[in-house]
Amino acid sequence: NGEDEISEDIESRDKASIRTTHNVVFVTAEAAPYSKTGGLGDVCGSLPIALAARGHRVMVVSPRYSDGSPLDKKLANAVEIENRIKIFCFGGVHEVGFFHEYRAGVDWVFVDHPSYHRPGTPYGDTFGAFGDNQFRFTLLCHAACEAPLVLPLGGFTYGEKCLFLANDWHAGLVPVLLAAKYRPHGVYKDARSIIVIHNLAHQGVESAATYKNFGLPLEWYKALEWVFPTWARTHALDPGEAVNILKSAIVTADRIVTVSQGYSWEITTPEGGYGLHDLLSNRKAVLTGITNGVDVDEWDPSSDEHIASPYSVHDLSGKFQCKIALQKEVGLPIRPDCPLIGFIGRLDFQKGVDIILSSVPDLMQDDVQFVMLGSGEKQYEDWMRNLESNYKDKFRGWVGFNVPVSHKITAGCDILLMPSRFEPCGLNQLYAMKYGTVPVVHNTGGLRDTVKNFNPYANEGSGEGTGWAFSPLSNENLLGALRMAVGTYTEHKSSWEGLMKRGMERDSSWDNAATQYEQVFDWALLDPPYAA
Ligand code: ADP
Repeated sequence: NGEDEISEDIESRDKASIRTTHNVVFVTAEAAPYSKTGGLGDVCGSLPIALAARGHRVMVVSPRYSDGSPLDKKLANAVEIENRIKIFCFGGVHEVGFFHEYRAGVDWVFVDHPSYHRPGTPYGDTFGAFGDNQFRFTLLCHAACEAPLVLPLGGFTYGEKCLFLANDWHAGLVPVLLAAKYRPHGVYKDARSIIVIHNLAHQGVESAATYKNFGLPLEWYKALEWVFPTWARTHALDPGEAVNILKSAIVTADRIVTVSQGYSWEITTPEGGYGLHDLLSNRKAVLTGITNGVDVDEWDPSSDEHIASPYSVHDLSGKFQCKIALQKEVGLPIRPDCPLIGFIGRLDFQKGVDIILSSVPDLMQDDVQFVMLGSGEKQYEDWMRNLESNYKDKFRGWVGFNVPVSHKITAGCDILLMPSRFEPCGLNQLYAMKYGTVPVVHNTGGLRDTVKNFNPYANEGSGEGTGWAFSPLSNENLLGALRMAVGTYTEHKSSWEGLMKRGMERDSSWDNAATQYEQVFDWALLDPPYAA
């Protein structure tokens, strides 16, 4: 009744008003829709908005990439701020500018420097990684530490009382700079830093001689020093001495977050720790896994503008139209009843593309269709192109990075395959479940946390689970799991519908993840900040 509703309202208002709000500063190499090569871009495009919606003042600092391509249009609303600052690093003084856009409750700040103005991805081009990435991201970190102090966003600076969320190695110098450059001068004493690890495999490792580039006091060398393990050395006589930016962040940050609970455990083991497992084990007390969410403004089958027909858990008929449209678009025979399997992702070792490659000849014996979208290692791109001519009626490989096509595949397929060797969180399986596309995954990291194995007998025969998670990673297991999925799809329609619906109803909201980040903020503020 009315009275109950009012008291509920008051209760939720009271709860909201006692929630402490913070100044949160994301530092990242990518933030969608401005820049994105993978999950990092998705997370840094969505989580800030979710935190802002919960009352926090949120800034995202990333480079102003510009190459004259359509991507630049996304930056059209960002206006230059008067403040230009000088940064001392790499043996000289470098001037950077700032651009700003206030959107969805978030201050999007773009650091401007000529080294960000070139064709390619944020990290490289067709010739490989840019040779000056250490410089480009050192600049980003210095600029991000200055931004809250100097930029009058909406008329007021953020000031010193900030929570910095440094994402991956590109932002890894932020915690070190706070401790080594600012706090000794009494600045940022109330700030805290959190390193968010989206992928431990990339650490920002360079020769030890480059330490002088960072603009850090000499006595802080130990924070960056990394004597790397034998397996990572190029030669038996290699002394294995390097600087490692991610390692320095793990040492100096006040808290560490990874993008799923499974991954937060895996990185403390020799298998998943990429040489940093001991260090991470020692810091277990401040390490938390928080599973990424899904941006429902972008990934919602009932409102997705990229797909042929909208649908929802209450009316799945549009999915059928999406499948036919996809088959038509990629030039596969239009066969609504034929199980359609999809793959979307970077074509590299991490994503298990080699396992797919060696399983395809077997898989193509079955009555299935398979669509792959991806870009990455040239050998896999060539393989995908060649395969089309061998299996004209069954296989399509789309080489490239194409967001609209990724939506069409997610909506149009019946099954999404993700045999990642390791997967910190994985977003495509979350998108797939939202779209009623059943994931078949390697049981690892975030895939293990998010895909619940199908059990037809549970819940008095009505079944449970949202997909198949196989382990260990092998051709046989991949084929076995795919065939179980295909068999269920073709022979047990009601079980299949149950799988689809449970996936679509799964809570993967960013709001849920944001509340867990707030808990980490509270913990970070309980203790004094890191000091040498
Ligand atoms: P990772 O960050 O390791 O690449 P995730 O699964 O966390 O993997 O996130 C990948 C993101 O990048 C998803 O949004 C996915 O849809 C997108 N993506 C990957 N490859 C492509 C591609 N070729 N075209 C369009 N989007 C892609």
